[in-house]
Amino acid sequence: MIDPFGRHISYLRVSVTDRCDFRCVYCMAEDMTFLPKAEVLSLEELDRLCSTFVRLGVRKLRLTGGEPLVRRNVMSLFRALGRHIAAGALDELTLTTNGSQLARYAEELRECGVRRVNVSLDTLDAAKFTAITRWGKLGKVMDGLAAAKRAGLAVKINTVALKDVNDEEFDDLVAWAGDEGFDLVFIEVMPMGDIGGETRVEQYLPLSLVRARLQRRWTLEDSSYRTGGPARYATVRETGGRIGFITPLTHNFCESCNRVRVTCTGTLYMCLGQEDAADLRAPLRQSESDALLEAAIHAAIARKPKGHDFIIDRRHNRPSVARHMSVTGG
Ligand code: SAM
Repeated sequence: MIDPFGRHISYLRVSVTDRCDFRCVYCMAEDMTFLPKAEVLSLEELDRLCSTFVRLGVRKLRLTGGEPLVRRNVMSLFRALGRHIAAGALDELTLTTNGSQLARYAEELRECGVRRVNVSLDTLDAAKFTAITRWGKLGKVMDGLAAAKRAGLAVKINTVALKDVNDEEFDDLVAWAGDEGFDLVFIEVMPMGDIGGETRVEQYLPLSLVRARLQRRWTLEDSSYRTGGPARYATVRETGGRIGFITPLTHNFCESCNRVRVTCTGTLYMCLGQEDAADLRAPLRQSESDALLEAAIHAAIARKPKGHDFIIDRRHNRPSVARHMSVTGG
C-alpha cells in the first residue's frame, strides 16, 4: 500500500476496545460513554480485518485500546494473529498497554509471538499515579512490568510530559528506566477530545524544553535506532539506556508516516490528527470474501492526508480533533 505522498503503509494500529480500567486526565473525561457491544467488531472480525491488512503489506501490528488487555478473551486474538509471525508474513506483533493486567498475561503474550510491549507510565509516585490515572494503582503496573521482564519481553515505557505534574520526575524516570533496562519515550500531549476541567495549555510541555532540562544531568547522544514508530532516540551515556522523543507539536514527523489506525468499530483513520475516516465494518460484514474490504482499504489509503495540524496555544485551546485518544489508542 502506497499513499499519494509515496509513503509505504506497513504499520497498523488496532484499538480492540474503547473501554479502559483507567481514566487518565489527559486522555479521557471521567464520565465517558462507551460503545454498545453490537457496534464493536468481534474478535473473529478483528482477526479477519488485521489479516487482510497483513496480506496487503502490513509488517507491524500493534493492538491497543482503550486498554487492550481488558477486552474479554483478547488472548485468543493475539494467538490467532501470532500465526502471521510464525509464517513470516508479519515482522512484529505488539501492544500498547497501561500494564494493569500484564502480570496475568505477559507469559502468554510471549507464547503468541509478542517480543516487545509499550507500557504507559507517567510517574513513579504512587499517589501521583492515582491522581493522573484517576483509578489506577502503581503497584499493579510495577508487578506487570516485573512479569514482562521475567517473560523476556522488551519493555518501552511511554511517558506523556505534563506541565507541573510529572516534570520534576524526568531525571528519576531516566535513572529508573536505565536500571531496569527499559527504553523510555517521552510524548507531547496532543489536543484530542474534550477532557473536561483542565485545558491543554495547562498540560502542554514542549519536549524541546524537556530535552534541554535532561541535558543538564545526562549526556544524550543521538542514535539512529528506530522501531518503525515516530520516536527519535538518544543514548544516555551514564546509564547506557535509550530514551526517545515523540514530538507531534514541536517537530512534526508526518513525512515519514507509515501507519494507519483502525478503531474497535472498524473505522479506519488515515491520520491521528485528522477527522477523515473510512468505514471498514460494512464491507467486512457485507460479504464473506475480502474483495470489498480490500477495495475499501485501497480507496482510503489513496486519500491519506499529508499530515496533522496539532496546535496548542492560548488561541487554539480546543481539541484539534473531537475524538479522544482512546478511540484510536495512540
Ligand atoms: N490503555 C493503553 C495505554 O495506556 O497505553 C493503550 C491506549 S492509550 C490511549 C495509548 C497512549 O496514548 C498512552 O501512552 C497514553 O498515555 C497516550 N495518550 C492518551 N491521550 C493522549 C494525549 N491527549 N496526548 C498524548 N498522548 C496521549
